[in-house]
Amino acid sequence: MVASSVLGFPRIGANREVKKAVEAYWGGKISAEDLTKAAADVKKYNWTEVKARGVTLIPSGEFSLYDHVLDHSVEFNVIPKRYLGHGLSTLDIYFAMGRGRQAAGVDVPACEMKKWFDSNYHFVVPEFSEETDFKLNFNKAVEEFNEAKALGVATRPVVLGPVSFLFLGKAAREAKPGFQPLSLLAKLLPVYKQLLSELKAAGAEWVQVDEPILVLDPAASLEKEFATAYAELAPVAPKILLTTYFGRLDSNLTYVAKLPVAGLHIDLDRAPGQLDEVIAAVKPTQLVLSLGVVSGRNIWKTDFAAAIKSGQKTIDVLGADRVIIATSSSLLHTPVTLASEKKLTAEQKDWFSFALEKAAEVSTIASVLSGSQDAAVAAALEANKVSIAKRREFERTSDDAVRNRVAAITPDMLERQSPFAVRVEVQKKKLNLPKFATTTIGSFPQTKEIRAARAKFTKGEITQEQYDEFIKKEIESVVRFQEKVGLDLLVHGEPERNDMVQYFGEQLTGFVFTQNAWVQSYGSRYVRPPIIVSDVSRPGPMTVFWSSYAQSITQKPMKGMLTGPVTILNWSFPRADVSRELQAKQLALALRDEVLDLEKAGIQAIQVDEPAIREGLPLRRSDWDNYLKWAVDSFKLSVAGVSDALQTHSHFCYSDFGDIFPSIQRLDADVISIEASKADMKLLQTFKEYGYSNQIGPGVYDIHSPRVPGDQEIKDRVKAMLDILPDQLLVINPDCGLKTRGWKETEASLENLVAAARWARQVY
Ligand code: GLN
Ligand code: ZN
Repeated sequence: MVASSVLGFPRIGANREVKKAVEAYWGGKISAEDLTKAAADVKKYNWTEVKARGVTLIPSGEFSLYDHVLDHSVEFNVIPKRYLGHGLSTLDIYFAMGRGRQAAGVDVPACEMKKWFDSNYHFVVPEFSEETDFKLNFNKAVEEFNEAKALGVATRPVVLGPVSFLFLGKAAREAKPGFQPLSLLAKLLPVYKQLLSELKAAGAEWVQVDEPILVLDPAASLEKEFATAYAELAPVAPKILLTTYFGRLDSNLTYVAKLPVAGLHIDLDRAPGQLDEVIAAVKPTQLVLSLGVVSGRNIWKTDFAAAIKSGQKTIDVLGADRVIIATSSSLLHTPVTLASEKKLTAEQKDWFSFALEKAAEVSTIASVLSGSQDAAVAAALEANKVSIAKRREFERTSDDAVRNRVAAITPDMLERQSPFAVRVEVQKKKLNLPKFATTTIGSFPQTKEIRAARAKFTKGEITQEQYDEFIKKEIESVVRFQEKVGLDLLVHGEPERNDMVQYFGEQLTGFVFTQNAWVQSYGSRYVRPPIIVSDVSRPGPMTVFWSSYAQSITQKPMKGMLTGPVTILNWSFPRADVSRELQAKQLALALRDEVLDLEKAGIQAIQVDEPAIREGLPLRRSDWDNYLKWAVDSFKLSVAGVSDALQTHSHFCYSDFGDIFPSIQRLDADVISIEASKADMKLLQTFKEYGYSNQIGPGVYDIHSPRVPGDQEIKDRVKAMLDILPDQLLVINPDCGLKTRGWKETEASLENLVAAARWARQVY
């Protein structure tokens, strides 16, 4: 018998029950008991529904009210001191670490969050120091194992592995300089032993221990840590399935195959090429091999034929008893169920598979591989064949014109007419901007009123005309404000945009939108990424109407505002049948047309935001160059069609460019704006050392907090920046867009920003 498994399940609930309960608890509207009850209901739903799909190895212990890494930290007593001593319950300490707490005399900011590998999920970063006092505050694996068991569901609990736990954490502020979290391994292992032996005593046959860092380059030097850890844990634990995902093991395979664990899980969605190597490596061992053939990262129906082929190949070498058919990773990154989508056409629905449908997929594939004679299995296999064939046909007959256009891209299409040094002079005359020009990143406060008007319009309660009138008034007031405060390069404020990706996706062909396909980004924040289903093109202008309107009501130059190709791609569910590169290029061509239309309409500066370029970096260093090549090319393709006189801008929401510096230069944007208010001046030093040659706007204040920066404070920052950067390269702007801010602090902050620029013009 071939077993089937799911590595983890979304926690939100089919109707966002957990999100709603968590937020109600924060708002003081429900009690901790109510919250626990809401969570229990969703866990019950997950377990019983996954079981009903026929999955044999069902996960438990991976549920979370906020973040599973945060659960793990609190469970292991990895709680920074600043959250203690306020008389908070464990639950409130947990939420305070996740989101900060400012109430009743307690004022603690949240712990740092980081992106979970190359996904859009964010985890709360554990903080370790010499003082960290590991102990088990509770045993989540045992609790949920028992909770599921009481419902008649036998589960395989999930635990984050010790090496990944330490590796993903950081040194706490109070740690000594040079402290390495991994140095705590020996101190941590006894607590893991306790956790796992309790789990064994509770009757768990297997435990899924996640060590996702095994797909990263630095894991190559952690052989000793892994060997020590698993030699200690294996004897006291249930059978350990060592789980890797999001990438390939590469050379780490050599030592991983020797670890004293009972099974190994590999991701064949992200890294199908590793199968042969892994089969060969585990063949002489006793290891069970779990094949991640059903993607935990996308929403596409699995091609059973391909999955069965991989499964059969493995069974031929290892035997059916040593093979598990699994999702590639936790299904956390997929929406709960396709059954909630009422607006997709039958044709579209037939393309997709969300979490529950994926659970059914692993179970069917495993049944086929077990030689099942069941009529339902045969029917599912046949239905899959038909769906995949239809989908392939749809893909094949997609838009030839777009594909031909991509094939016809030539290198000269990526380059501006003249080098920056020439363009900057032309632009100076055309735009007539002062030295130390001031500008903003694009959005202005998205007020209650704006959201209410949009909601009314979507519901059909107001007409298109009424809505447009409303947006015009908004733009006008944003323009008047910028004129009044004295900004130099204006923006229209983006009031018409629901979201910086969705807004464009809705106007491009090739995108599909869902009603309920929520995916966790962090804590209670969920996003609903658009799905790219076919070749992308632009039926007509997307932003020209609003940008032209905005330009028509002011004498000052107006900056057009677009989301870049790489960011649209990274924040959508991409197609799996063609490369990301092809999709980015199609998006770039669509944006290129938009940029040219904006120029034709008289817009003199255009910003193409690419906040997601860096987060799209592959996990393995050896894959970076290829990615950066097409990512940067796509950006260039989108903007390079304009004349020298048009000033191109790009924006990134971060500042740690580190290794990708040469790529930032290669973008050749006339102006880039970056987050810099919290960074020290080392960043600009690096720009200088790299010899960055174009204009740059390092944010002079933090927009993530309502705090108003004093005018002296901004002057000091500008001064520090000018100590490093040449005068003629500095542009003055905030860190990021202002959509999450209120008007009051926005006005005060921008007044101070303009005052600082005026001061600089006198002094420098
Ligand atoms: N132009 C966008 C804004 O100002 C940029 C947002 C972003 O970089 N995430 O809102
Ligand atoms: Zn930003």
